[in-house]
Amino acid sequence: MDFNIYMPARIISGENCVIKNSAELRKLGGKCLIVTSKTSAKKSGALDDVVSALNNENIEYTVFDEITENPLVSTVIKAGEKAREFGADFIIGIGGGSPLDASKAVAICAENPDYDIKGLYSRPVPSKALPVILVGTTSGTGSEVTGVSVLTNDEDGMKKSISGADCYSAVSFLDPKYTCSMNYDVTVSTALDAFAHAVEGWFSPLCSDLPTQYAKMALPLIYNGLKYLEETKQLPDEKLRADLYYGSIYAGLELNVCGAAFPHTVGYVLTENFGIPHGKACTAFMPYLLKKAKQYKNARYCELLEILGDSEDNIIGIINRLTDVKNLTMTEEQIKEWCSRWVNGNKNFDKTPGGFTMAEAEKVLRMLSAE
Ligand code: NAP
Ligand code: FE
Repeated sequence: MDFNIYMPARIISGENCVIKNSAELRKLGGKCLIVTSKTSAKKSGALDDVVSALNNENIEYTVFDEITENPLVSTVIKAGEKAREFGADFIIGIGGGSPLDASKAVAICAENPDYDIKGLYSRPVPSKALPVILVGTTSGTGSEVTGVSVLTNDEDGMKKSISGADCYSAVSFLDPKYTCSMNYDVTVSTALDAFAHAVEGWFSPLCSDLPTQYAKMALPLIYNGLKYLEETKQLPDEKLRADLYYGSIYAGLELNVCGAAFPHTVGYVLTENFGIPHGKACTAFMPYLLKKAKQYKNARYCELLEILGDSEDNIIGIINRLTDVKNLTMTEEQIKEWCSRWVNGNKNFDKTPGGFTMAEAEKVLRMLSAE
């Protein structure tokens, strides 16, 4: 076995694990800031459970619920101020990847009042940070188990992540029941994101023995869920919800070691300029990734088809129909401008089978543009 892995978060999984393990919260202090978005914490039932757990332990709390999709750095800085004013000892993030990622950055800003947008992006790693508890409500990002926080830079509107030892949770609670309130579209897009992590990670040069095992656990769970979603257009039952959730966590563990390939990077352009949700923005480029993988990492490619138990045509067909990103209106000038940020390459480009360049980024965007 050959691997080198850092994943310092405690992950506690199972039905009602938040309430059953409320003592874990007390270990972090007597006051906390709950960081969340508009509706998911309430709709999913996660906020009620967290509040019960906090009450059990006599922990004081206040709620910051202003996190939006693709969270802005300015919002995170504002929440950091609120944490300081309240005297929070720790942060609890509840929701999808947006509030979970935001919570990690809030914990850093709370301990570093001098950080502005530039300061946060260029901080020394690790920076001081409050401990973070995460409670996920989507089955996509795997943010519960990664040391990454994807934020939107207010200054240029571009998505750019921060990462490192200060971006892991102290404890993540995994209870798939919180994902049952997701509607069909969010279920599809988040499952596509998890699938993108599992597939992009599979072809990464960093995909050593252990992450390969994570991928082998993740891929069938997520792909079966995607097939069901595509064939029935129905919401999954509880069992399939749990499969999709754990699939996303295993894919997150894989992503944490392997990182992503070009679709995660170029996908940001689709989210920033067309509002396409993150998962679909990544899988819009999956056919091109698979084409390159077939050419440059053929043995690994054939093994992937075997694990998924399906043909290339079926897999691409299902992903394309669920993703449904095409005929986008963009000019040649826009394509050139959007891609100019990669003039010096990108670390995810290097993880793409056969490599990937700025010119190819322009090409894959052109492939999605209206005829
Ligand atoms: P999200 O942006 O957190 O949420 C998407 C939508 O789903 C929101 O409208 C949200 O509602 C709703 N929602 C979430 N959970 C729900 C539930 N249980 N019931 C009903 N509605 C629910 O989606 P996401 O796909 O999980 O996160 C995407 C973000 O994560 C992107 O910024 C992406 O770049 C990032 N990401 C991070 C990592 C990482 O390693 N950290 C990896 C991949 C992607 P409300 O907003 O009203 O609550
Ligand atoms: Fe992702």
